[in-house]
Amino acid sequence: MFARPQWLILLLVLIAGLVWWRVPADTQQLSRTALIMGTLVEIRAFGDDQQQLNQAISDAFAEMTRLEDLLSSHRPDSDVARLSSAEKTVKVSAETAKLLQLGQQVALRSGGAFDMTLGAVKQLWAIETDHPQIPTAEQLQTALHGIGPRALQIDGTQVTKSVPALQVDLGGIAKGYAVDRALAVLRRAGIRSAAVNAGGDIGLLGDRQGQPWRIGIQHPRNKGQLLTTLRLADRAVVTSGDYERFFERDGVRYHHIFDPHSGQPARRSQSVTVVAADAASADALATAAFVLGPRAGLKLLEDWPAVEGLLVAADGTVYQTSGLQRSD
Ligand code: AMP
Ligand code: MG
Repeated sequence: MFARPQWLILLLVLIAGLVWWRVPADTQQLSRTALIMGTLVEIRAFGDDQQQLNQAISDAFAEMTRLEDLLSSHRPDSDVARLSSAEKTVKVSAETAKLLQLGQQVALRSGGAFDMTLGAVKQLWAIETDHPQIPTAEQLQTALHGIGPRALQIDGTQVTKSVPALQVDLGGIAKGYAVDRALAVLRRAGIRSAAVNAGGDIGLLGDRQGQPWRIGIQHPRNKGQLLTTLRLADRAVVTSGDYERFFERDGVRYHHIFDPHSGQPARRSQSVTVVAADAASADALATAAFVLGPRAGLKLLEDWPAVEGLLVAADGTVYQTSGLQRSD
C-alpha cells in the first residue's frame, strides 16, 4: 500500500525540482494607470525589482504629463495654445516643431486627410464635451477657412499660420508621441519589457517574457468582440475608430474624426489599426487612413515604409495591408 520512504523522498525531491523549475527567476511585474490627456493610460512593466519598476512608471507618467502641458490646446501656456492665439508667427520648442514636421509629412502624403489645423472645427462640434452640437454649414465654412497641409509654415522652431484665426489641434498625433516618450523613459531606466496603452494607442518595449505581446483589436461595432489578435514585439499599434468618442442624433452617429474637406465626421471607415515602429507615426497615419477610407487609406499605409494596417470600411468590410501578420 505505502511507498517505501526512499521512494517517497525521491518523489518529493522530484516535485520540488519541478516546482522550482517552473517558477521563472524572480521576474516582477507592475501595472499602474493614470488619467493623462483625457485618457486612461496603463503602463505594465517587467523587471527584477518592484521599487525600480514603480519609480520608472512614475517617471514615464510624469513625462506624458509634461507633454500634455506642452501640446494640449486646453493648457493656456502650451505651445499649441500659444500658436492658436497668435496673430501670425510663434516660436515653439524644438520638440513641438519636430512633431509638427512629422504631422505635416502625414498631412502632405495623405492629400490633406490628416490636418492639424482643424481646431476650430473640433470646437464647433464639441464632441468631447457634455454639449455636443451639429454646426451649421456657415459655421463650418468659417471654421475651415485657411486650413490645410500648408496652413502651418514650419521654419526651424518658428511656426507661421496662414490666417490669424487658425486653431491648431494635435489630438490626432500627440497621444502617440507621448506613448513613444513614455517608452523612452522606461528604456532609459533599464526596463526591457513594457507596454504603454493610452486608450488604444499602444507602444511595446521588447517582448513579453520571451513571447510576443498579444494585442487584441476591438471590433468597431460589436463591443467586447475582437476583430483579430496581433502578436508583436518592439512595435506600436494604434487604432482610430468612430466608436471611441461620438454622439447620436436622429439615428446618425457623429464622431470625433473629421474630413477636412467638409468639416463633417469622416464617413468612409469604422476603424483603422496601424502597426509601426513608433506610435506618433502610427497615430497620425491611423487618423489619416480613417479619413481616406479603404482605397486611398490602404495605399497610404502600403506606401509608407515599415508600416502595416487593418481597415474596417463603413460597410464593415475588413481590408489589410499585404504584410500584416494576424494570428486568429
Ligand atoms: P485619433 O483618435 O488619433 O484618430 O484622433 C482623433 C482626434 O484628432 C480628434 O479628437 C481631433 O482632436 C483630431 N482630429 C480629428 N480629425 C482629424 C484629422 N482629419 N486630422 C488630424 N487630426 C484630427
Ligand atoms: Mg491618430
